Amino acid sequence: MSMRVTFLGTSGAVPTTQRAPSALLVNREGERFLFDCGEGTQRQMMRFGTGFDVSHIFVTHLHGDHILGIPGLIQSLDFNDRTDPLAIHVPPGARGEIESLVHAGGHRPGYPVRIHEVAPGSVAYDAEAFAVRTVETEHRTRSMGYALVEDDRPGRFDRERAEELGVPVGPKFGRLHEGESVELDDGRVIDPEQVVGEPRPGRRLVYTGDTRPVEAVVEAAADADLLIHDATFAADAAARARRTGHSTAREAAEVAARAGAKRLALTHISSRYAGEWERLERDAREVFDGECFVASDGQTVEVPYPE
Ligand SMILES: [Zn+2]
Ligand SMILES: [Zn+2]
Repeated sequence: MSMRVTFLGTSGAVPTTQRAPSALLVNREGERFLFDCGEGTQRQMMRFGTGFDVSHIFVTHLHGDHILGIPGLIQSLDFNDRTDPLAIHVPPGARGEIESLVHAGGHRPGYPVRIHEVAPGSVAYDAEAFAVRTVETEHRTRSMGYALVEDDRPGRFDRERAEELGVPVGPKFGRLHEGESVELDDGRVIDPEQVVGEPRPGRRLVYTGDTRPVEAVVEAAADADLLIHDATFAADAAARARRTGHSTAREAAEVAARAGAKRLALTHISSRYAGEWERLERDAREVFDGECFVASDGQTVEVPYPE
């Protein structure tokens, strides 16, 4: 039941020799999702061995540093004889622009590419045990972030108690754990509440894309296991962050602290901080006492269950 996040691109606006533009790969139990797809994303996927087989791309906004990797990836998937459909989720009004990227150079993919416009504050992808929700953000253009939120898991199964009650070791254990009552050979009925604890929360991962610090992210990132936030600038460039619709590392950390997030990854780092990224970490640590780091290209983190 793993959830693994690989930072494919952590640079703001333009690529540098150290960092590619924005892209993030989330592998949840073998299913791969891409959040943003900056230029060169497919090559980063090869370098860092994430695998290519993505089922969904979640786009935060239409700035080039978040989408210019789409045409190359689409065409390489075709080259590899993909037949599975690919869903691309985009903010409202973005369909036409994304369509033109999908068909760049007159390309017609041999597999279905479905573009979904999704309003901020709704659900982009509703899966069996989790959903990917859209989160309102504030940038210079229509934008949104995403929250991958897992459903609650069943509570812990009290094996000792079940044996005390006379439940035979075997399939009845599993049925009780899944919330079913079972009848024993002597006619007694055991209900799941007798042997299963309170439901336990699933994991929660939030990726903002480019944004000012906003209330909707604080709400979406409540108790998040990992918040990945725009941290384009250091604290002394706060005015520039405001002007360009970005956040400072300190502002990102304030959001994380208010949300009660457990871990904060700072990303979309301006090229002006090449070689002195620790500055951003220091800024953030002044206001956030959870685990916090400036993400680097190729870095992979596991997201564990909260308990
Ligand atoms: Zn950007
Ligand atoms: Zn942007």
